[in-house]
Amino acid sequence: MTLQFHDTLQGRKVPFEPLKEGEVTMYLCGPTVYNYAHIGNARPAVVFDLLARLLRRSYKLTFARNITDVDDKINAASVESGKPIEEITARFIKAYNDDMAALGVRPPDVEPRATQHIAEMIAMIETLIENGCAYEAESHVLFDVSADADYGTLSKRDLREMIAGARIEVAPYKKAPQDFVLWKPSTSELPGWDSPWGRGRPGWHIECSAMAEKHLGDTIDIHAGGRDLVFPHHENEMAQSCCAHDGAPFARYWLHNGFLSMDQTKMSKSLGNVLLVHDLIKTVPGEVIRLALLGAHYKQPLDWSAETIESARRMLDRLYGAVQGIDVPDEVRTAAEVPSAMIAALEDDLNSPKAMAAFFSLAKELNKATDDEQRISLAAQMYASGELMGLLGSDPDEWFGGYAEGELSSDDIEALIEKRNAAKAARDFETADAIRDQLGDAGITIQDGRDGTSWHRS
Ligand code: AMP
Ligand code: ZN
Repeated sequence: MTLQFHDTLQGRKVPFEPLKEGEVTMYLCGPTVYNYAHIGNARPAVVFDLLARLLRRSYKLTFARNITDVDDKINAASVESGKPIEEITARFIKAYNDDMAALGVRPPDVEPRATQHIAEMIAMIETLIENGCAYEAESHVLFDVSADADYGTLSKRDLREMIAGARIEVAPYKKAPQDFVLWKPSTSELPGWDSPWGRGRPGWHIECSAMAEKHLGDTIDIHAGGRDLVFPHHENEMAQSCCAHDGAPFARYWLHNGFLSMDQTKMSKSLGNVLLVHDLIKTVPGEVIRLALLGAHYKQPLDWSAETIESARRMLDRLYGAVQGIDVPDEVRTAAEVPSAMIAALEDDLNSPKAMAAFFSLAKELNKATDDEQRISLAAQMYASGELMGLLGSDPDEWFGGYAEGELSSDDIEALIEKRNAAKAARDFETADAIRDQLGDAGITIQDGRDGTSWHRS
C-alpha cells in the first residue's frame, strides 16, 4: 500500500508523492487566539497530529501550525474585556497549547505568529502589486481576483456566477465584489504597522501565505484545515501564493476535515453551542477525547454526544485492560513494530476507524494468548500502536485507578499497604485492621502472602 490522500483540489483520492524525496512540508491553519478552543477546533489539531505522526515514520517532516494573533475578533475581545491585546493573545496561546497537549497533540516544528511576520506579508503584497494581481485603493490593498485565471478551482466555484450572485454590500473602493483585502488601514487605537500604504494591518488570508512561504517554501506538500476554510480562506491563500510565485503550485495536496456537530448542529462559537476542551478535560481524560475525535474518518461529519465519550472510554478500558499486569522490558518495547494492518489503514487517507479496528484485533489476540513471551511481544506491539495513535500513554493501573471520583490511585494504595505493614510489624493491629477496612471500602482487596501484600480492585 502506498500513501494516498483525498485531495480537495483534484476532488479524488490520489497517491502521495512529496516534492523532495524523503522530505515533507505540511501547513495547518491554527487558532485565532481570543478565547478557548472548543472540541470542533480540536478536531483538525488531533487529526493532523496523527497524520504528522504517520509521516514522521517515513519522512523528514516540517510541520507548521500558525497562530493568528492579529484579527478583528481579538480587537473586539480586548475592547470588551478592557485588557491589552498582547495579554489576551498570550493567555489563549498558552491555553491552546496546554489543551492540545492534554489531547496528546505534539507541538508542531514551527509555530509562526502572524504579528512576527508583518515584513514578509508587506513584501508579498508588494510583489502582488508589481505583478498586476493587486491594487491600492483608499489606503487598502485588494487582491484582484480577475487577474487569477484559476480563481475558484479549489472550492469549485465559478467566478462569473459568484459575481452575478453577489449580494454583499460592496465597498466603493473595490473593483469587483470578490476582490479581497490584503491590507487595511488601522485607527490609532487598533494594532497597526507602517507600510507603503500607510499605517495598517494585514488581511487574514495573506498571513498564512506569507508564513507558509517563509517556513516551508513556495510550494508546500500538504495544506490542511477544517472544511469551512476551503472558501474563502484557502481559495484566497492559493490565489495569492500562486500569483506571488509566478504560478508555482501552492500546495500539492489539500486535506480538509469534516465538521463536528453537537445534537446534529455544527459546533461554533457564533451559535453558542460549544464544548470547550479546557472544561471537558477537567472530568474526562484527554485520551478519551482524542479517541472520540479519531472515532470517525476525518473527512466525515462527527456528531458529539455523551455517548461518544462513554464509548471512547469503554474502548480505552479494553486496550488498557489487555496490557494491564504485563511488564514489557524497555528493549522489547523499543524494538516492537506496529501491525501492518494498522499502517495500511492510516496510509489509506488516514482511516483512523479502520486503524482502531486493527488495534482491537491486536488486543483480542493478546487477551487470548497464554504464552508469557508471546504476551509480552503482543503487549509491546500494543504500546507501539499506542505511540502512533497517541493513546496508551498512561500506566494501566493508573488508568483504572485514575478517573472515578474518590477512588484511590495505585500510589495511594501502595502507601496505605506500607502503612498497614508497618502497623502490623509494630503489633498495632487496630490501625492495621482500620487500613484494611479503608481499602475494602474503596473496593480494594488485599492478600498477604510470602512475597508481601498483593492487591486488586474488585
Ligand atoms: P477558528 O479558530 O474558528 O479559525 O478555527 C480553527 C480550526 O478549527 C479551523 O481549522 C476550523 O476549520 C476548525 N473548526 C472550527 N469549527 C469546527 C467544527 N465544528 N468542526 C470541525 N472543525 C472546526
Ligand atoms: Zn490559513
